Amino acid sequence: MRQLYIGGAWAASASEEAIDVVNPATEEIIDRVPAGDPADVDAAVTAARGAFPGWSALPPAERGKLLAAAAELLKGRADEVARTIATDMGSPLGFALKVQTLMPAGVLASYARLAESHPRETRVGNSLVVKEPVGVVAAITPWNYPLHQIVAKVAPALAAGCTVVLKPSEVAPLAAYALAEIFHEVGLPSGVFNLVSGRGPVVGEAMAAHPEVDMISFTGSTVAGRRVAALASDGVKRVALELGGKSANVILPDADLGAAVKVGVANCFINAGQTCSALTRMIVHRDLYDEAVRLAVAATAKYTVGDPFDETTRVGPLVSAAQRDRVIRYINRGQEEGARLVAGGTDRPLPRGFYVEPTVFAGVEPGMVIEQEEIFGPVLSVIPYTSEEEAVEIANGTPYGLAGAVWAATEERAVAVARRLRTGQVAVNGGAFNPMAPFGGYKRSGIGRELGEHGLEEFFEVKALQL
Ligand code: NAD
Repeated sequence: MRQLYIGGAWAASASEEAIDVVNPATEEIIDRVPAGDPADVDAAVTAARGAFPGWSALPPAERGKLLAAAAELLKGRADEVARTIATDMGSPLGFALKVQTLMPAGVLASYARLAESHPRETRVGNSLVVKEPVGVVAAITPWNYPLHQIVAKVAPALAAGCTVVLKPSEVAPLAAYALAEIFHEVGLPSGVFNLVSGRGPVVGEAMAAHPEVDMISFTGSTVAGRRVAALASDGVKRVALELGGKSANVILPDADLGAAVKVGVANCFINAGQTCSALTRMIVHRDLYDEAVRLAVAATAKYTVGDPFDETTRVGPLVSAAQRDRVIRYINRGQEEGARLVAGGTDRPLPRGFYVEPTVFAGVEPGMVIEQEEIFGPVLSVIPYTSEEEAVEIANGTPYGLAGAVWAATEERAVAVARRLRTGQVAVNGGAFNPMAPFGGYKRSGIGRELGEHGLEEFFEVKALQL
């Protein structure tokens, strides 16, 4: 059984209960973490509060040096950490290395630089405006990008001068332990970073309600985010929320259809569809519709489902039995609603493990449940439209607003439509993900932004000194 990391030391939880960590490919228990309780949260927050004056008073460059050292150690342990993530959440190993491990190492390194280079003072007339760290930050993260989602909030918080209590997902918590070991090894001062494992309604809620927490930075489902925000509102805490999505891939009639469908399918099935920004709705002009469906089905056939450690695997298992069952329920629901299943379905692709076939629905109409709700599995809906106006309306027609894509013959035309999407990111003609660009949601996809300078800004208070 693992321990908690509080005040610079590994410590047993006040609770004796444990949470099993399960390998989703084998269904075997591979580790156990403490199911922390509110007394653990209190100890961790007290440690973080105690460490705040010293850490926030350090020159930013000193904090940057420690973050840079942590990024180097993470790179050095990348193979091992990637294997851990492939084992506890099921990402194919190559993806686990490149995206799940080396990308967060890069983000950590970016905040090592920004700690020093980001300007903290400006003049406004007779005022000196200074940015100061917000204080003790409670960070709550999901399982789908278990290390990236942690680093995207913990690194800027530490760079800003905040101290942190982290509750990683109880479903895939092991990468968080590697990060805690790394912070310990680089000599982060005691109490600056604390790790309390456990369940959301117990540990997460105790963090959100704790009077000594100044800010909650939450990534996860909209339902849990709403609960966290409600609890935080009592203490008028700062809240940053990175929530769900139902993102649209809008393909205009003059687009390169082959590229738009190929990239769109890849983006939908990435990480077995367990990606908040996945392009799960392909919105295609009626004139191109049948061809787009044909191309999508052909592309889907190339998504080999299998063991995360097998080099030919492109789609690993879903993270848990509960997630697999949820996705299967949505596939059944899509058929009940009258959508046409053209690839995949509810058959089990392998006898063992929480696998789901990459699935494509054609004939999906706006307003269907599979078109509105986040499924969080490898399920693509292809939706026809007649006019550009209608395409934009469908794209904006869900409660979410996280990401999107637009394809057209010219960048100018695609950008004009991209500007009309009510989402935090839009890929134009396949534009690559940029880990220094702001990431976050409109509407029920969240509040605030992560990554790059915008992500750092979230962790500052602003003070005006009238001179
Ligand atoms: P989840 O909401 O079930 O859990 C996320 C975290 O919140 C976990 O650590 C969990 O223990 C905790 N939690 C759950 N209930 C809580 C409560 N009542 N109070 C406090 N904490 C609570 O989400 P998940 O299943 O782990 O992750 C999938 C969801 O995360 C999807 O909706 C996905 O879109 C979203 N997500 C969003 C982003 C983004 O950046 N916008 C990134 C990744 C995932």
